[in-house]
Amino acid sequence: MDEHVQSLLSAYLDQEVSDEEAERIAAHLESCKECREAFDELKAVKNGLFSLYNAFDLPSGFPASVMSRINEADIPPFINRRFAVMAGFLTLVMLSVFVAGTYPVLYTVMKLASLFVMIGMTLLRAAAVVAGALPYLPIIFYAGAVCFIIVALWLLWRLLTATGVKKGELS
Ligand SMILES: [Zn+2]
Repeated sequence: MDEHVQSLLSAYLDQEVSDEEAERIAAHLESCKECREAFDELKAVKNGLFSLYNAFDLPSGFPASVMSRINEADIPPFINRRFAVMAGFLTLVMLSVFVAGTYPVLYTVMKLASLFVMIGMTLLRAAAVVAGALPYLPIIFYAGAVCFIIVALWLLWRLLTATGVKKGELS
């Protein structure tokens, strides 16, 4: 038991020694102050390194958790938002193209409609002006109606004579 175990302390601390060796080292540490102090120092260093490792592990794990959180929660809404923006832009472009494409047609239709309305209004106004300017409009209307009836009767008579109905009646 006179042999010091300082060269084996690291392996002993990491439990990388055989059970027999571990027993021997433990027994030696009980009796040898020098080796026990060295062991305590090594243990403190190892604990410090472990603490340091944990201290560095926390920040190294923190970004990972942040990244995973970004991957799980932040990225999809970002993509959705981007997709929504793109879809909205695309819709706007398509709507613009549609409006730009149909606007001349709509404009022409509107223009024609307003033109017809204007023509109709003008005709009505002109008719009203004519009616107002002619006090004998009812007489003219009746005269026209009489003329129309005469013409109609004459056409009917011509039709009847042409088909021979009148002739048949006469003969
Ligand atoms: Zn010793």
